[in-house]
Parts: sequence; structure tokens; C-alpha cells
Amino acid sequence: MKSKHISTLAVHGGHQQDAGHNALFSPIYTASSFIQPNLHEGGEFAYSRVSNPTRHAYETALADLEQGCYATATASGMAATALAIELLPHGSHIIAMKGVYGGTYRLFERLRKQNNQLSVDYIDLNDLDQVKQSIRPETKMIWIETPTNPLLELVDIEAVCQLAKQHDLLTCVDNTFASAWNQTPLTLGADIVMLSTSKYIGGHSDLIGGALITNRDDLAKELDFIKTTVGAIASPFDAYLALRGMKTLALRMERQCSNALEVARFLESHPKVADVHYPGLESHPQHALCKKQMRSGGAVVTVRLKGDVETTKHFIGKLQYFVLAESLGGVESMLNHSASMSHGSMTPEEREAIGVYDTTLRLSVGIEDIQDLLADLESALR
Ligand SMILES: *Cc1c(COP(=O)(O)O)cnc(C)c1O
Repeated sequence: MKSKHISTLAVHGGHQQDAGHNALFSPIYTASSFIQPNLHEGGEFAYSRVSNPTRHAYETALADLEQGCYATATASGMAATALAIELLPHGSHIIAMKGVYGGTYRLFERLRKQNNQLSVDYIDLNDLDQVKQSIRPETKMIWIETPTNPLLELVDIEAVCQLAKQHDLLTCVDNTFASAWNQTPLTLGADIVMLSTSKYIGGHSDLIGGALITNRDDLAKELDFIKTTVGAIASPFDAYLALRGMKTLALRMERQCSNALEVARFLESHPKVADVHYPGLESHPQHALCKKQMRSGGAVVTVRLKGDVETTKHFIGKLQYFVLAESLGGVESMLNHSASMSHGSMTPEEREAIGVYDTTLRLSVGIEDIQDLLADLESALR
């Protein structure tokens, strides 16, 4: 019987048994090919682009973690997104959450628009009337990202997926920020989950990877065909690292999300802070949705300091534990200056229109002792 509890699934999910030597942890099979004793006598694995034992152990564990029936592990999160939209015919239309991840926007607008005639509307998916009005004959998919980066707006996954089903549209949820510990979109009606495993699944800032997970047999078949055809698979080394990271997902998330709530509360009450965005705070406009859909407010906190870019630079320079870095989701606390990093290609006016200022910082809260993290922020603010 399969557990419903994520702490158990993270450790025991999937088919991790090593058929060779009963190793407790799945070995790294680097082989490109597997010997077939004779014609029509092949085993489970033949060629590693199609299937590989290490990747299989990881993929089946990921599928269980996200409550799906199938997962495919890709070379990066972006490779997973590219694979998902390979499902759509030329000239398709997607309705996407406004403020999707920058790389997703670049893929849609600067590549698929040109070579696949893809068109995308970016709207607030919580406005269901606007979603309905945006549906055209060529609309094929709703692309959900929740919480969004960096302002941590939420989308009601269940409501949007219900609407999508009525109009026969696929739904794909980028579940990178929340991770399966906080929410499992497939159980809320989504067709596909997309993950950048570079973040919370890996959890140690030591790999780049992605995945798609589904609970639909027809989509599993199609995705597996596209994966084999396009070939942007995770290597056995990365599959091993990600599986190893995944084992402690629940432990890490528990600590990181509770640290994040304390950090958010501390910052909200600090006189040098203008705003705090964190769905786990009662003051967040979508706190009720957070409580309905997520286990916690997540481990990312976005803050807007009072002052200007120089004050912000000074603050960053004084921090000891929060390091300035592009990514998020590792065990170490990090911060990202959205205006110059993730949203650096936008003009200041475009950024301010979506609420990203020169003094906006996205904190990815790690597993360190909360007293040390609060003291670090307190002294840098001072
Ligand atoms: C990082 C990230 C991606 C892209 O993943 P890579 O592993 O960097 O390719 C996509 N979506 C979100 C929300 C991300 O944070």
C-alpha cells in the first residue's frame, strides 16, 4: 500500500530496488546500452536515452511524490517546459499567469512565437471571467505558476483547472516554488506538473534539472514519446544527486518554511521595511487561498526596503548568512535583487508596473538556526 504522507514518499517512493546487488540506495548506471542476450530477449532497459535504471528510480519516486503515474526527468527546468509545450500543435494559444518565470516568458515569446506561431496571453488567472474571455478556438493550454516570482501571488489551482476542463484545455502547473511538500497540483485537477528540480528537489544548490509529472496515462505516453524523440534527459549523475536530495525534501521544507514565516513576521514589524510579500502572513491578500491550497506559505519571502538602491546595496553588503545569488531553494539562505537579476531585462517603468522596485529583494530562506538568520537581518537593517 502506498503511503499518502510525503515524508514517507520522499524516502520510499517509486521503484528504487537495485536488481543487481540489493543496494540500499540506487547505484549510478552510466551505461549507454544494456546487453540483450539474443533477439527479442532484452530486459527492462536497452538504451539510456529511452530509459536508464538510475533515472527510472528517480522518476518513479518523483511521480509518487507529486501523486502522479509518470514522471520524466529532464536536463533542466527549461527543458521540461519546452517538452511540455511540444504537446501543442503549431499555432496554438496559451493562457499564462501574468508574471511567469522569466525563462518561461523568453521561451514562449522569443522562440516558440517565431518558430511555432505560439501565442500567449499573460493574465491574472484569478480573474476567471478574463480567463473565459481569453479562450479562443486555438487555445490549448493554461500555464499556471503559483506562487509567482518574486511577488508570491497565488493562483487558485482547483478553480482554474475546473474551468480548463469545461473547455477541454490542458493545464500545466509550475510547482517549483511551492514543491510537493506544500501542494500537489495533480490532486487539485491539473494535468501536468512542471518542476525545476534545481531548486527544492535537489535542495543543495549543486545541480540543474527539471521534470514533468502527470497522472494521465494518455499524456504519459505522449510525453514519453516526445522525451525519447527530443532527448533532453537528465544524466544518471544528476538523477542520482536529485534523488539523494529528494529524500530529505520534507525535513528541509519543514524547517525552511517555518524559518520563512518567522523571517516574514520579523520583517513586517521592522520600521525600515516598506512591504513584505509572504502568503503565510495574515496580511497577504490571498492568505485564505494559501491556507486552502498550501501546507505553509513556502520558503520564499519578498521584501521591499525603505530607501533607495544605495541603501539596498549597503544592506546586502552587511549580511553574513544571506548570500546574493541567482537561484533559490538550497539549504543555505540566499537573496536575489529582482530589479538587476531576474527582472534585469525589463525597463524600470515595466518593473514598477508589476511591483518590482530597486529596493525589492527576494529571500530564499535556508535551514540555518532562526536566531542567527533574524540577527543577521536585524544587524544589516540597523
Ligand atoms: C528556476 C526556475 C525555472 C527554470 O528551471 P532551470 O532548472 O533553471 O532551467 C522555471 N520555473 C521556475 C519557477 C523557476 O524558479
